[in-house]
Amino acid sequence: MQKPRKRKQAELHPLPQSRTKPARATICLNKPTNDPYPTHPRPTPEECRAVLDDLLVLHGFPQEFAKYRRQRPTSPDDETHGFPKPEPLDGDAQESVLDGLVKTVLSQNTTEVNSLRAFDSLKSAFPTWEDVLSAESKCIENAIRCGGLAPTKASCIKNILSCLLEKKGKLCLEYLRDLSVDEIKAELSQFKGIGPKTVACVLMFHLQQDDFPVDTHVFEIAKAIGWVPALADRNKTYLHLNKMIPNELKFDLNCLLYTHGKLCHRCTKRVGKQQRKESHESSCPLLNYCKNSESETS
Ligand SMILES: [Zn+2]
Repeated sequence: MQKPRKRKQAELHPLPQSRTKPARATICLNKPTNDPYPTHPRPTPEECRAVLDDLLVLHGFPQEFAKYRRQRPTSPDDETHGFPKPEPLDGDAQESVLDGLVKTVLSQNTTEVNSLRAFDSLKSAFPTWEDVLSAESKCIENAIRCGGLAPTKASCIKNILSCLLEKKGKLCLEYLRDLSVDEIKAELSQFKGIGPKTVACVLMFHLQQDDFPVDTHVFEIAKAIGWVPALADRNKTYLHLNKMIPNELKFDLNCLLYTHGKLCHRCTKRVGKQQRKESHESSCPLLNYCKNSESETS
């Protein structure tokens, strides 16, 4: 007798029910794992593999990421596509997650060389993270000056350290190694100044997880070759590509696309829009994929 009555009530008052807080909270929680472009069919796994192979022939595997590649767990896929994982080298000691996070913060808006110089300078001025936490902000800024945006980065680093000490009682992020990707994202996003790109970089480089960060280079290429709609923003591009790119290809493809974006100016500038004068990049293999995207637009 009770069942029909309940149904009737729900039909009569559908709005208050769908507007209750728990329902909205559920929607928000699910959002990050949803693909914002579920009907956008690219990139297919085959296309990811083809782009990876083309870029590998063109650039080889970029040296700056070789150390991180050696730290990754071996997958059976490495042998299948003729790109076996090299043996670890002597200088490959695994960095702490906290070192990795601070390195990633220091790498924002600067070159690899300058950010590494800033990290080394910070480490030689303050051998432990406790030393950094108790230092004057100005002294931290001076130590990382060569990496640019010193005041912002110094306050971000100090904030991470003081939050960690307050919440965990020690300056250590190794506990993240035992958490799931979603849990790690939730933990790292709590720190002020840590956005999705920094989190994705820490996941990929320092926690050996399969994630696909979208930096400027990757973002421009993804739009140029039609892997996301032309008007996509960076965060939606991140969500879509993470859905579409097979996990086992994410690390290699990301390093290669990033490197390609830095070296090649053809595919990051849309056709007809200020093309570079030099034409020695006319052999860019990604131009083949641009054509596909143009025929699909409309
Ligand atoms: Zn190119």
